[in-house]
Amino acid sequence: MSDYQQRVTDSFNERRRLFRLRRKKENLRFWEEFGIIPRWLMVLVGVLYVIALVVAITVNLAAGRNPNGNDMFPPDLRYSPALASLALAGIVTGASLSLAIIIFLVAYVNRDASRRGMSSALWTILVIILLPAWGFIGFVIYLLMREPLPYPCPQCGNTVGARFNFCPNCKCNLHPSCPQCKREIAETDKFCPYCGNELKSATSAVEVSA
Ligand SMILES: [Zn+2]
Ligand SMILES: [Zn+2]
Repeated sequence: MSDYQQRVTDSFNERRRLFRLRRKKENLRFWEEFGIIPRWLMVLVGVLYVIALVVAITVNLAAGRNPNGNDMFPPDLRYSPALASLALAGIVTGASLSLAIIIFLVAYVNRDASRRGMSSALWTILVIILLPAWGFIGFVIYLLMREPLPYPCPQCGNTVGARFNFCPNCKCNLHPSCPQCKREIAETDKFCPYCGNELKSATSAVEVSA
């Protein structure tokens, strides 16, 4: 039982450390993030929107010309086809927009998970399954749970994973700790933020090689 609790605590601490690392190393910009959604999907969604618009308006106008039925939408605008088409276009645009947001979110999760070395198929399915009943909860869970992006080693620039403790290329310590109080510090710190110990030797070594 205590062994199990120890493991839960360890994994919780590991996750908290990764969360801190993500906040420290990633300052993602919204529009740059949008760029990982594949171009072809955006074009496809745009084309489908135009097709939906043309089909809806054509069918609606054809229904209005039919002398037997007055089933043109909306019924109040039966006698002005231009206004009726405009109203229909508004509705189609609204529906397409919410559908497009869902498609782009799922595509984002799919691409983002694979670039972070997570199981992209699993996360995509989870977000889609939670959509009908829970809305964007799946997406929020994904944002909280996702692994930090791989980042360049501060010493040699080689790409290192978020869970690495040492760079596999140059053996640089990726989570340096203060020699005095043993707490984790950033590579760029000149003094330990916890005990004030001077860390000059460590930082100058990084600067020389950079
Ligand atoms: Zn390195
Ligand atoms: Zn310290």
